Formats: sequence, structure tokens, C-alpha cells
Amino acid sequence: MKITKEYLLVLLTSTLLISSINLFAQKPDKEQQNPATTETWEPFPEKVFPEGTGSLPSDAIVLFNGPNLNAWEDAKGGKARWPIIDGIAVVASDSGSIVTKRAFGDCQLHVEWRIAPDITGEGQFRGNSGIILQGRYEIQVLESFESQTYSNGQAGAIYKQHPPMVNASKKPGEWQTYDINFIAPRFNEKGNVVIPARVTVLYNGVFIHNNAEIWGTEAFVGMPQYGMHNLKEPLFIQNHSNNHKNPVQYKNIWIREL
Ligand code: MG
Repeated sequence: MKITKEYLLVLLTSTLLISSINLFAQKPDKEQQNPATTETWEPFPEKVFPEGTGSLPSDAIVLFNGPNLNAWEDAKGGKARWPIIDGIAVVASDSGSIVTKRAFGDCQLHVEWRIAPDITGEGQFRGNSGIILQGRYEIQVLESFESQTYSNGQAGAIYKQHPPMVNASKKPGEWQTYDINFIAPRFNEKGNVVIPARVTVLYNGVFIHNNAEIWGTEAFVGMPQYGMHNLKEPLFIQNHSNNHKNPVQYKNIWIREL
């Protein structure tokens, strides 16, 4: 075999290339091989204890569990006026809407509600109430097992925005649950929303919203828009004032700040 200049050049280049690869190749690092490197130990998550039926976590803030509405006030000021019958808050005629005294931002919210078994009326006039997060973003409460209305206005809808993905409603007279994970919107100094609110909702244990983006403050007419507000705002429960004979009822309302 004749050794040419070209052959020597190729040989030299190849040798240099292989050497450089070896130079930069990662040698097995003992530290990287150690599974403990990616373990997080501190801080430990706080221990939280469910308390049996109703699964009230030990760190939950109880907003209502009978016998009073001390955590609430009337939405127009003064004492909350909903009557409490056997530990159940009743959205009675002319008793106004209620709002929490305390303000909340990102949260896990649990609410139990039922429609009166002898409900009358149709559509939006059939057991209308609502869980209004931060006083602006409504998860609709309505009789939707039997009655139909516009889908983004039925029970579980983010009112006039997103219909529930499925209708998980129970019959009138049966207790129903909302388990809501809410992420409050963030605004910049100019008052523009920079991170819209998001919500995930379990309705009777069924996901009906999966990290849905909220488009802005609830609007009955026109498209919703954001208006700047505090990171934490009170929770509002609606008295729609058209359920006088058959009020919606509430019990076991609790919240965890996230
Ligand atoms: Mg409503």
C-alpha cells in the first residue's frame, strides 16, 4: 500500500476528531448516577387529614356548615339574611345574595347544593343561583337534570362562557357537589390582564371543566372583559330572586387557599 500525502492528511484529521470526541465525552459521574440527587426532601408538604364523610381537609377554612352564616355578609352590606333550616342555608325570597367577609385568590373550593324536589319553572327560572368566584366569575347553579337552557348557562357552566363538558346533574332534591380549583387572574400595573383566570371543576365527582380559561368578568349581554381587581376578592353566592317558592339550598362549604 502506497502512503500518499492525502492518506496521511485523512489519517491525521480522523485521529484529531476521535481525540476531541473523547476529550468532551462525559465520563460517568458518580454524583449523576446517584438517584438521591433528584430527590427533594425539604420542605415537607404539610400533613392534612381528611375527616371522614364530606372529606373536609384539616386545613380547610369552613365557610358554612351550619348553624350560622358568620363567615358571610349580605352582598349589599350588613348581616347575611339567608334563613338556616336544620343546618341548611336557604336562598329565600328577598334575602339577597351573600358574600364572604374574607377575600380569596387561588383556591380549592367545595360546595354542596340542591334544588328543591318540588321545583317549578323552566330554563333560567328553575333553581337559579351561582358560585361567583371573586364576585365576577360564575359557576352556574341551576336545575339541569330535567330542564334545558342554553348550554353555557346550564348547571356547571362558566356562565355565558364555557358549557360543562358533560351534564353530571342529579335529580332535584338530591345533594350535589362542586369541587373547584380556581387560579385567579393576574394584572399588570396598567390594569391589563396578563394571566387570565383558570378553573377546573368536578361536578358530582365528574370533571366538567379542565383548566378552562376564563375570558373575563361575567357578562349577561355582550362578551366578557377583564376589569382589574385585587389578587384576592370575596366569594359571592347568587340569589337570582326567581326561586321564591322553591329555593336552592346550600350546606358544607369550605375553601383551601393555594
Ligand atoms: Mg346563576
